[in-house]
Amino acid sequence: MSLLAKPCNFCDRPVPKGSGTMFAKNDGTVLWFCSSKCKKNALVLKRDPRKLKWTKKYVKGGIRKK
Ligand SMILES: [Zn+2]
Repeated sequence: MSLLAKPCNFCDRPVPKGSGTMFAKNDGTVLWFCSSKCKKNALVLKRDPRKLKWTKKYVKGGIRKK
């Protein structure tokens, strides 16, 4: 087991070991969330973290469309 913090799957902030929430999807993918807020946004609200300013994945000026 790694002692390094894992990045939150939603906001990309490091999740210290021993905190945060682990979520295992039916297909075997394991997701880590730093807080219930991130988990809810990702799983219940299905928001795009690139559109939310409080996440580290936020893209300034919006997402470029091809
Ligand atoms: Zn998070």
